[in-house]
Amino acid sequence: MFKKCSLCGNEMTIMLRNVVYRNRVKIHNVPVHVCTDECCAHSQVVESIKDDLKRLMKDLGQSPRRQDIEFEQISELSHMLVTVADHDEKSNVRARFEDRINELLDMFLLAQSLGDERWMLEIRQRLVQIG
Ligand SMILES: [Zn+2]
Repeated sequence: MFKKCSLCGNEMTIMLRNVVYRNRVKIHNVPVHVCTDECCAHSQVVESIKDDLKRLMKDLGQSPRRQDIEFEQISELSHMLVTVADHDEKSNVRARFEDRINELLDMFLLAQSLGDERWMLEIRQRLVQIG
């Protein structure tokens, strides 16, 4: 999840940005890699959430109505980062990831015992994003 800038090679950090789509839809809390070099400031959407973002844009279509969307409702990684930001305990990021993974594993066991394959698949996708 951590990476180096493709332009200047410096470390990149992950930030939550608001993205406006077709001038009408404001998508909040989209995880973006931002270069820590101030002169460069290159940014790009985090690879693992691109599919969720593409799917959302496809669902919205070419002429969406004016609306605000909380990306953390859709993306597990965004949800994770929002939770961390809310608590502002950077040193505890790893602990929070582990808590969340345990929560998801519990959900997975529940889904499995219910034989709900769609739910299992959804949870597995969420685990892949943050695991
Ligand atoms: Zn850079």
